[in-house]
Amino acid sequence: MYQSLEGKVVVITGGATGLGKAMTERFGTEKAKVVINYFKEDQEVKGIIETIEKAGGSANAIQGDVTKEEDIKRMIDHAVNTFGSLDVMINNAGIENEVPSEDLTLEDWNKVISTNLTGQFLGCREAIDYMLEHKIKGSIINMSSVHQEIPWPHFVHYAASKGGVKLMTETLALEFAPHGIRVNCIAPGAIDTPINAEKFSDPELKKGVIELIPMGYIGKPEEIAACAVWLASTEASYVTGLTLYADGGMTQYPGFQAGKG
Ligand code: NAD
Repeated sequence: MYQSLEGKVVVITGGATGLGKAMTERFGTEKAKVVINYFKEDQEVKGIIETIEKAGGSANAIQGDVTKEEDIKRMIDHAVNTFGSLDVMINNAGIENEVPSEDLTLEDWNKVISTNLTGQFLGCREAIDYMLEHKIKGSIINMSSVHQEIPWPHFVHYAASKGGVKLMTETLALEFAPHGIRVNCIAPGAIDTPINAEKFSDPELKKGVIELIPMGYIGKPEEIAACAVWLASTEASYVTGLTLYADGGMTQYPGFQAGKG
């Protein structure tokens, strides 16, 4: 438990499924006040709010599309109107789709970039603007990926978006460090969430992924939520501009394991 999170107001985009759901529930058990942004999952959020309230936290939900400036502004206003402030902004919403790059349409490229990169920028900008105005030494966490570092054929739009998230995070960390606003990102490896459901339902594809993970297993959403609560807490008070890799060693060149190379 991180006592410093009790009563803090946290907004999590894409908070109704996968990593977002695990983070909303974990911040709830830390007794934070959680605003769950959902896109289309209005049914799922009711159960999440109940879970959080049973654990002694408080939560509410707001529909919104992170690619729309007015929706992001609405999310922050909603947090302030319902819970009184904004202390932690988690830009988590993201999408991916597999397409060989020579066939990638401009429409698909724009969709991924506007959700994964522009959506996160808008979340950062609006949160920072509020924190500056109210002199809040807040924490911003962007959800990146090991693909901010590892090239990924057939996912060039996704890899480009996450590479952008890395430098956006570092730049904002530098820009707002004097104000005590910390900006970090988490780079998960392969985690068991809906984004991977199709791939992991195929035993061969799943085996191929596990072979890329030195620790030998697909990560659990709770293992990413554990990183997020630490980064948001005062235990990480001197940490900014960090990429926290939570990937079972995936970025440590697994091809070189057991003396190969
Ligand atoms: P997920 O598909 O369960 O979650 C994505 C969430 O984003 C969903 O709730 C979806 O509704 C929401 N979303 C999509 N477009 C949106 C929009 N325009 N506006 C608002 N919300 C929108 O998958 P996940 O694994 O939980 O993904 C969460 C984040 O983690 C993503 O940014 C993803 O790139 C990143 N990530 C996941 C993995 C993994 O292995 N699961 C690895 C690295 C990075």
